[in-house]
Amino acid sequence: MSKYQAIAEAMQQGDVAGILSDSVKVYPHSFEQSGNVKLLMVKQDHTKYILAVGAGPLFDELTGEVENGTKVCPLVTANRLVLNKYFDYTVPRAFGTQSSTLGLGDRLGIASAGHIKTVLGKDVRPILAQQSIREITLTNRDYNDVLNGACFAVFQEGYKDGYGADGDHLKVESDIKMSLDLGFTMITLDCSEKIDNSVETISTAEREQKYNQLPAAKRKHYESRYRDKTFEVAGNSITFDKDTLIINVLIYGEAVDFMEHVYVTYIKDLGRAVDFEISIDETPSPTAPEAHFFVAKELYSRGVTVYSMAPRFCGEFQKGIDYIGDIEQFEKEMVIHAGLADDFGYKLSIHSGSDKFSVFPIIGQYTKGRFHVKTAGTNWLEAVRTVAQVKPELYRKMHKYSLEHFHEAAAYYHVTTDLSKIVPLDQVKDADLADTYMNEDNARQLIHITYGILLQAKDEQGDSLFANEFFRTLSENEEAYEQALIKHIGRHIDLLGK
Ligand SMILES: [Zn+2]
Repeated sequence: MSKYQAIAEAMQQGDVAGILSDSVKVYPHSFEQSGNVKLLMVKQDHTKYILAVGAGPLFDELTGEVENGTKVCPLVTANRLVLNKYFDYTVPRAFGTQSSTLGLGDRLGIASAGHIKTVLGKDVRPILAQQSIREITLTNRDYNDVLNGACFAVFQEGYKDGYGADGDHLKVESDIKMSLDLGFTMITLDCSEKIDNSVETISTAEREQKYNQLPAAKRKHYESRYRDKTFEVAGNSITFDKDTLIINVLIYGEAVDFMEHVYVTYIKDLGRAVDFEISIDETPSPTAPEAHFFVAKELYSRGVTVYSMAPRFCGEFQKGIDYIGDIEQFEKEMVIHAGLADDFGYKLSIHSGSDKFSVFPIIGQYTKGRFHVKTAGTNWLEAVRTVAQVKPELYRKMHKYSLEHFHEAAAYYHVTTDLSKIVPLDQVKDADLADTYMNEDNARQLIHITYGILLQAKDEQGDSLFANEFFRTLSENEEAYEQALIKHIGRHIDLLGK
């Protein structure tokens, strides 16, 4: 008899809530039907499958082994595409500019079910698939895998309110094309390599000289639009005298050309909606109101429709910890940035938005809920918190390894981690590991930025040092991990006023 016989019978009878099995975990919210075919997600030996019973095209199109009439379908791309074809809600979608959205990049590919339970019933939509190229490289994943993780979680939870898929911080055109070909519904264009902040440090005369090397037609275009003109935006006057204009043209001119090029080439005529986000946040200095206005005005006058813009705010948005900086100043600037976004009709986007509890109320208030807040690594930290709670010895090994390899990771991140402030491991009892380390900024950042190093670490035989045990532990403690996410990400949503 197939090990799934009893489950298959319950599926046929349409009653999956009461299934009891020692060896198979059932996800009752996934129970679905199309024609005579019924589907149900289960997990056995830490691997999830979709079981299919009945007869019809959906059954035939799914890939898997048939055991006594039950098809056991692995969670692979081919099966994701079949789900997408039969069940609309499993397809990622664009959201446009009128709703609150939360970027919930699921770094490990196992956080989306918890994320879904967090947003359930809240007035905020999840961008469940959201990874940058750097993240997928460090975690040995690809964009298909990222989409699979999100889609199968949506199916598992029977979540029908819609989710998005963000090709995050893309800089290269081939990556943009690849994401859109796969069905991603949001593109975050990272313009940092086209933004030339070096002109801020040279003299006015040098700037003028540089500016005069631009083609005459280009200079004429900018001068006729901005020079000595004052614009009223969001209750503020923005004036472009000669030097202000030259500075903005030199810093952002090439970036704006690139944004327009990407929009025209890949998005405008795609035939489906895409949430096109412009990111100008990865720069050394905060985005001045003139700069934000200049970029937006240029884009709109060139016919580029934008979903959201991520300026660089004052203060520091370091990974995994609260806002560092002058909150009053942040509020003043938020009024202008949110007002600008409102005037042009797009949403304001906040990057490295995880754990910025002290400024969430300000963001929620001034954007009037029209925000996109990106979180990414915080679900990894909650996974580590769960491991610290349920498998202290594994946490200790990972913590020690992170300390030894911190400086390799620190080269890639802007963090001010002070390792000397982290309590030594031998002074912390097992029961206190999670609170001691996961509630303390320096330890959080230590673990936050070493995720790639930890997950890729291997012993002399080439076997994974932590990854296998880490994922197995989380699989065994799926509910605990979900509860950690509901609590932590839920606090984000509450403070954002949703
Ligand atoms: Zn960013």
